[in-house]
Amino acid sequence: MKPLLRVRGLEAQYGLLKVLHGIDFDIGEGSVTTLLGANGAGKTTTLRALCGMVRHSGTIDFDGVDLTRRRTEDIVRLGIAHVPEGRGTFTSLTVEENLQLGAMTRRQGSEIEEDIRRIYRFFPRLEERSGQQAGTLSGGEQQMLAVGRALMLRPRLMLLDEPSFGLAPLIVREVFAILADIRDNMGVSMLIVEQNASLALELADEAYLIETGEIALSGPAAEIRDNESVRNSYLGY
Ligand code: ATP
Repeated sequence: MKPLLRVRGLEAQYGLLKVLHGIDFDIGEGSVTTLLGANGAGKTTTLRALCGMVRHSGTIDFDGVDLTRRRTEDIVRLGIAHVPEGRGTFTSLTVEENLQLGAMTRRQGSEIEEDIRRIYRFFPRLEERSGQQAGTLSGGEQQMLAVGRALMLRPRLMLLDEPSFGLAPLIVREVFAILADIRDNMGVSMLIVEQNASLALELADEAYLIETGEIALSGPAAEIRDNESVRNSYLGY
């Protein structure tokens, strides 16, 4: 089956510092792919390159459209939503206002209200807190809001950077269970960058291990989880 996203020979750099040295990966329609690797390996840079936020070269084919030279706003319009590390919600606006802003690139109207209702079905906690200022939410709720806001774009692909960052273990489980629900029931494809390799491999269908800007290993998540060097270096057992 043809993948939704097909990346070949992706290189990226900050000034003279080359961070990605020609990586290849695919993301299947409706599936979750995880990108694992140590600090500084180039995971965040990969997401930034896909969004056109860092100088890069190679080919990025998104359902037949070449994204390599596109501007970030075009990439968003084509159906890729980015949930950066640190979440970036508007802290002085309410939960519901944040969700409404997520639909900014789309037409106004009843569609937006309908989408907000749908997002509340995945995140009942956000509905309970719909009138609360985003800055007063717990870390887990802010992460849920960041994902909810990205979903307001009705993306085909969501790029998530460290969704577990700074969250208590129980909350992390809750966020990941919701991500699985979103994949299974909304058919949104995801690329997840995660330090918590064990959890990411539980959720993911496919996995890639990136080491100093190169893909060191790739395959079905279940296989990568059984790989001895992954277990020693990233899973700790
Ligand atoms: P982490 O989990 O620590 O975020 P990562 O795998 O996501 O790791 P990147 O953030 O992609 O790694 O960083 C890859 C390399 O690029 C690192 O050496 C980092 O210092 C460098 N780098 C990242 N952002 C910039 C920047 N804005 N300017 C210069 N160098 C950068």
